[in-house]
Amino acid sequence: MIRLTLPAASDAEAPYVARLNTGRGGVDEADAALVDEDAEGVTYLGRHGVLAIDGASATELDRDVVIVDPVGGRAERILRRGSGHNTLLVTERCDQLCLMCSQPPKKTHVDRFALFEQACLLAESDSLIGVSGGEPTLYKDDLLGMLERVLAERPDLEFHVLTNGQFFDDDDVARLRDERYTRVSWGIPIYAADAALHDRIVGKDGALSRLEKSMAVLARAGARIELRTVLVADNADALPRLARYVAKRLRFIEVWSIMQLENIGFARARWASLFVEHARDFGPIGDAIDYAALHGIRAQLFNFPRCTVPEPWRDLARASISDWKRRYADACAPCRERDACSGFFEWHPIQQAEDGVTPL
Ligand code: SF4
Repeated sequence: MIRLTLPAASDAEAPYVARLNTGRGGVDEADAALVDEDAEGVTYLGRHGVLAIDGASATELDRDVVIVDPVGGRAERILRRGSGHNTLLVTERCDQLCLMCSQPPKKTHVDRFALFEQACLLAESDSLIGVSGGEPTLYKDDLLGMLERVLAERPDLEFHVLTNGQFFDDDDVARLRDERYTRVSWGIPIYAADAALHDRIVGKDGALSRLEKSMAVLARAGARIELRTVLVADNADALPRLARYVAKRLRFIEVWSIMQLENIGFARARWASLFVEHARDFGPIGDAIDYAALHGIRAQLFNFPRCTVPEPWRDLARASISDWKRRYADACAPCRERDACSGFFEWHPIQQAEDGVTPL
C-alpha cells in the first residue's frame, strides 16, 4: 500500500502547501527543493524553511504536492505526481449515516479549503482531482468557491465531487450553469427506488425525497452526473427496480456505477450480513445492467474483479480501485487482464480473494 501521510518535521508555525522538487526541471516559488537524502528520508528547503520527511525517497516524492502540518508532525501527499487517484477529503462531517460507510463521519470539521485551493493550483497539467468527505456540500459555498477559482485559473483541470445530493437548491441552478462546471462531474449515490429502503440504508428519513429535489436542480443546470449504487445484501434484489427508476426518471445522467462493497469502516463489522457474493448470483445485477442499457443508460461495475463477472458483462468491470489501496491475490500472477482489473482493496479478506479468482 502506498502511504499518503508521512512523518515530517518543519520550521513553520502553521500548515502550508509545498511542491516537492528534486531540482530537475527547475524550482519555483511554491517548491521545496531537495537539499539532502539519506536512509531515513528526505530534506527540503523552501519559503517556509526546512522540511524533513521520513519514510520515502526523493524519487518517490518528486513533484508531489503536500500539505505540511508542523504541529501534527506530518506531510500529506495531497496530489501525487502521475496518479489518477488524487482526492481531497474536504470534511469528515456528514448528515447521513450509511450502514456500509467506508469513512465513518466525525462531528468536527477542520476548514482546509484555502490549503486545498493552493494545492490544486500546483496540480500537474490536465489532472482530474477527486473531492470527497464526509459530505462536501455541507460547506457548499466554500466548495463551489474553491472549484470556481481553481477552474478559472487552471482551465486544464477537472474535478469529480462525491456528494450525497442533499443540499442543492433552486438558487444553485444559475451558478452551476457556469461554463466552468462543464469540467466538474458529480458522483451521487442512490441505493434503491423505494424510499423506505434507500432512507434506511443511508440512515436518514426523507433522504431519497431530498435527493430527488437535488437531482432536479442538477438536471436543470446541465450538471454531469455519475450515479453510484453500492451493492449490499439489502438492495441486491432491488437493483432491477432501481434500473427502471433510473431509466424513467434519471435519463440525464452520464453513467451509472454499480459498486462492490469495501471491507472498511462500518462495512467491516457488518461484512457477513452486507457482502453479496456476486460470483454466485449475478442475476439481479445483470438484469439491472441490461434494462439500463436497453433504455440508453450506460452502466459500469466498480470493485468487481474481472474474473468474477460473467463474460457478457465483464467488459463493464473497471480498474476502479485507487492505486494506493489496491492489491491483487497471489493467484492473480498469471492473469493477462490484470491491468484492466480492479483487483481488491488492500483490506479485503485475503482468503476470500485467493479463493475467488480464476486467472484470465
Ligand atoms: S485473476 Fe486477478 S487480475 Fe485476473 S481478473 Fe481475476 S482478480 Fe483480476
